[in-house]
Amino acid sequence: MTNLLQSFTEGRWFTAADEGTPLASAVDGHEVARISATGLDRAGMVEYARTVGVPALAALTFHERAALLKQLGMTLMAGKEEFYEVSRHTGATTRDSAVDIDGGFGTILSYSSKARRELPNDTVYLDGPTEQLGKKGTFLGQHIYTSRRGVAVQINAFNFPVWGFLEKLAPAFIAGVPSIVKPASQTAYLTELVFRRIIESGILPEGSVQLLCGSAGDLLDHLDGQDSVAFTGSAETAARLRAHPQVVTSGLHFTAEADSLNASILGTDVTIEAPEFDLYVKQLVTEMTVKAGQKCTAIRRAFVPEPLVDDVIAAASARLSTITVGDPASDGVRMGALASIEQRDEVLKSLRGLTKSASIVFGDPDHVDVVGADATKGAFLSPILLRADDKTAPEPHDIEAFGPVSTVIGYRDAADAVELAARGKGSLVASLVTKDAELAGEVVRGLAPYHGRVLVLNNEDARESTGHGSPLPVLVHGGPGRAGGGEELGGIRGVLHHMQRTAVQGTPNVLTSVGRRWVTGADRVQGDVHPFRKNLAELVLGDTIVGGPRQVTRADIDHFAEFTGDTFYAHTDPEAAAANPLFGGIVAHGYLVVSLAAGLFVDPAPGPVLANFGVDGLRFLTPVKADDSLTVTLTAKQITPRQSADYGEVRWDAVVTNQNDDPVATYDVLTLVAKAEED
Ligand code: NDP
Repeated sequence: MTNLLQSFTEGRWFTAADEGTPLASAVDGHEVARISATGLDRAGMVEYARTVGVPALAALTFHERAALLKQLGMTLMAGKEEFYEVSRHTGATTRDSAVDIDGGFGTILSYSSKARRELPNDTVYLDGPTEQLGKKGTFLGQHIYTSRRGVAVQINAFNFPVWGFLEKLAPAFIAGVPSIVKPASQTAYLTELVFRRIIESGILPEGSVQLLCGSAGDLLDHLDGQDSVAFTGSAETAARLRAHPQVVTSGLHFTAEADSLNASILGTDVTIEAPEFDLYVKQLVTEMTVKAGQKCTAIRRAFVPEPLVDDVIAAASARLSTITVGDPASDGVRMGALASIEQRDEVLKSLRGLTKSASIVFGDPDHVDVVGADATKGAFLSPILLRADDKTAPEPHDIEAFGPVSTVIGYRDAADAVELAARGKGSLVASLVTKDAELAGEVVRGLAPYHGRVLVLNNEDARESTGHGSPLPVLVHGGPGRAGGGEELGGIRGVLHHMQRTAVQGTPNVLTSVGRRWVTGADRVQGDVHPFRKNLAELVLGDTIVGGPRQVTRADIDHFAEFTGDTFYAHTDPEAAAANPLFGGIVAHGYLVVSLAAGLFVDPAPGPVLANFGVDGLRFLTPVKADDSLTVTLTAKQITPRQSADYGEVRWDAVVTNQNDDPVATYDVLTLVAKAEED
């Protein structure tokens, strides 16, 4: 069969031995592709990931992996048109496809950029500062993260065939863990196409990504404690996988993102005339109709102050009546089809459950006008808005109709809204539309324990808002309880989910060697050459320059006050300064101390040091009085070559002490240093 989807396993494309199961277009029912994994050696895939993918990724630093992801993101973005063509068969409009396709590629690019900015150009990530464990400072602790030596299995839902796998793959790749991607069968033809382009690009290292089209089969049987499974889909499948013997016994990392009865709350402060009223209604309709409501983050429960329920229903119905349903390829179509006829049947079943305690106030489950397609062949459904008869009845809080379906529920006050939202038993996202910051504070604090993300929307942030339904690479995506209890994305946290955190205990020299970051107490190297005369290749951790002593005079303090305009009384008014309980007299400005320290450690002539781009962690520890003597010790602490630049970053440990050896100021100086001396 020419349209039988292939898997990419053990470095080659695999074709199943049988004819496979047909996958139908959501729009007109024609066969788009077939799918089968019959004969696939899943144990072989796991073994290949471990023996080929793990070492290939381990050979690259975070920055090198990030550079490959960037290249991949740009390549995929440049060829995205063909993905849009295929995406239409899933029932997606152009707007829906953008969320999936551009959203997926954008996530890769975001991870690439975040990794280059926030991770070292190394394979080990240091978590927090060292902990001193003994009195003399010879015994310290440091938490480190290293890549797990296993495979990240990603089992995805049908609704986001592109974003769904890339949002899981990107953090795993940065973490140095190879992926096995298993798309939901229903829309796997789009995942397979994107994956094909990824493999053709030749950008990713051998073994770092594999694709399994068809049943997962015995895949989980071959995983162990270094591996992970990230699942998105139904609560039933999540429960089944959670109980899998390997998940229960091997300690493999299992996370799930399942059902979610997300809430959107209209604040009690909002009147029908307020712009926030329109924002609320517009957002509700958007979330019902984008991807035909097949979004794990879509609004299922619309909480509205009791007096405004009728007005919200009227306004939402008016907007919903303008939504044209039909073939995404036809002009003017705002909502496409559900992913399949079976999926529509599931939604109708859920709807029957919901109507036990809610009434339909917009839409007809049995009829929808369809543009550009045969309504009997595609998986079309009208948007359906319900009104809860009883706000505490279980159905609206329990049943997730995974389609263009929402229920409006009246509430009394802020506490009532929070309590009702919590009846969802844990959700991915809630939104609150209000212009009252006090109210927002109260409601968000109440919602937070039950939600992974909370959006507060009003007229001030609406233009820039990314919306209720959009997970962002830099923010947590996941939710407690019923939402699955997992956490994805969230910037670098998403990367660290794939790494092992280890507390290392030892001497400062040992911790310097492990983390490749100089630790206080480790050896310092003081040679004839000033460290500022060394380029990045010549510099070593521990290279030190000691400058001073330099006496601070009262004239220095007066001059600095006058020159900068910082005439704060502690530097200028002896009587007032004497009354200050911390100083007991005139003290030098902290910034004067730091400026004098720079004067003591710099080597002024042009050389490899190109710029000072800031200081980190500046603390003033002991007041400096007139006639105190300052000494500065500057030590190379961390050396980070930049990936595609002819310079890198050097972090210097700076300690300023007085004549009694008391530390006066501590901080890190950040500089850019040339990789090699120019000819
Ligand atoms: P499923 O849970 O049936 O499938 C999700 C993924 O799990 C698919 O890739 C599926 O593969 C795979 N899978 C199924 N059984 C197993 C197994 N035994 N071992 C390993 N993998 C398995 O969800 P659907 O995608 O069919 O969606 C069903 C319902 O789930 C929706 O109607 C909706 O209610 C809910 N859903 C919720 C989402 C959310 O995030 N809140 C997202 C998507 C769906 P295959 O397709 O090959 O069976």
